[in-house]
Amino acid sequence: MKMIRDDFPILTVTENDKPLIYLDNAATTSKPLQVLRAVEAYYRHDNANPHRGVYELAARATKAHEDSRTKVAEFLNASPDEIIFTQNTTESLNLIAYSYGMEFLGEGDEIVLSVAEHHSNLVPWQRVAKRTGAKLVYLYPDSKGHLTEEELNQKITSRTRLVAVGHVSNVLGIEIPVSSIVRLAHQNGAVVVLDCAQSAPHMQVDVKRLDVDFAAFSGHKLYGPMGIGVLYGRKELLEKMPPFLTGGDMIGSVHEQNSTYAEVPRRFEAGTRNVGGEVGLAAAIDYLQSIGWENIKAHERELMTRALEGLAKIPHVTVYGDLSPDKRHGVISFNVEDVHPHDTATLLDADGITVRAGHHCAQPLMEYLKINACVRVSFAVYNTAEEVEAFLNSLRQVRRWMGFGSESTL
Ligand code: PLP
Repeated sequence: MKMIRDDFPILTVTENDKPLIYLDNAATTSKPLQVLRAVEAYYRHDNANPHRGVYELAARATKAHEDSRTKVAEFLNASPDEIIFTQNTTESLNLIAYSYGMEFLGEGDEIVLSVAEHHSNLVPWQRVAKRTGAKLVYLYPDSKGHLTEEELNQKITSRTRLVAVGHVSNVLGIEIPVSSIVRLAHQNGAVVVLDCAQSAPHMQVDVKRLDVDFAAFSGHKLYGPMGIGVLYGRKELLEKMPPFLTGGDMIGSVHEQNSTYAEVPRRFEAGTRNVGGEVGLAAAIDYLQSIGWENIKAHERELMTRALEGLAKIPHVTVYGDLSPDKRHGVISFNVEDVHPHDTATLLDADGITVRAGHHCAQPLMEYLKINACVRVSFAVYNTAEEVEAFLNSLRQVRRWMGFGSESTL
């Protein structure tokens, strides 16, 4: 663990004059030296506009761009021509909504979402529904945060044309039953969009094994740079989709009155690419793979178990979703009775502990849980058991700090 922490220079900064305890990893992760160095090396030695110049330097930039695509393809078990670089998960999901949803959905078709979706996987589908006359149908989790077979059977029907769901909720941290969803969707002739923003950092996302039609994730939540995201799309679907953004580099030929488009994936990559970000993402994937999924999962499970057990013992704390760590990945959300989540987060910050408080871009889920907001703690490979204990110790004081009596009454 010490070795892993040494890879992340930002972990040595202070927060309110205390050692930083960074527990907001679901918002964005810190970046290891391996990523920082890869980005710097690209800009120092290989920077040029890919696919544009015929000179040697531009060829190197193009190679860096295409090698990064191959790396991401291997990471997801896809083919390189099924990988599109975007800015982030949000852009990837909008690309599907505009180039697939707006084109292939119509009046009366049903789009199935979970009420736990991040706004990025919800607002674009509202736009599609408004434009096409399609209807949004919501899946509701049970009291422990799980989507039941009964709920899936009821909502995914012959009217369903598209199911768009988050692999792991950014609030509940709970993994959805992807195989049941995919089976039902495909039986009914619908496509499945999987938002992997919160799963890709914690588990292997094998798009072929999952058999999903589209998948999206963000580099910055996976130890890579900000501004680089990925969309996976099944090749035969991408090939029939029109471009999302248009302009330079996504064309076959352009004439005064009309244009033809490039083959996929370039059809979906208009304008100059973020090659530095792509190279950083490839380095982040190498970094994750050098630690290994088994080690990552075991370590994060230990942190999760310790945190869930600790939280369960603190009176006046409500944790949302199943308390068992088995189906949880990286994220726990909770509230302290009578304390606004922003106050809880601010008090923890005074101890150097950074957590997120708010609606977490999941307002329909907040409404479903009958709360306005909550506090979220989220883990990464570099967090330690000592940090979890420090967080729990600090949290035990929150109600006392807010003037609700002595610590012993908590
Ligand atoms: N989907 C989920 C589940 C998320 O947690 C997030 C970000 O928190 C997003 C989508 C959007 O990611 P980005 O802001 O990187 O586009």
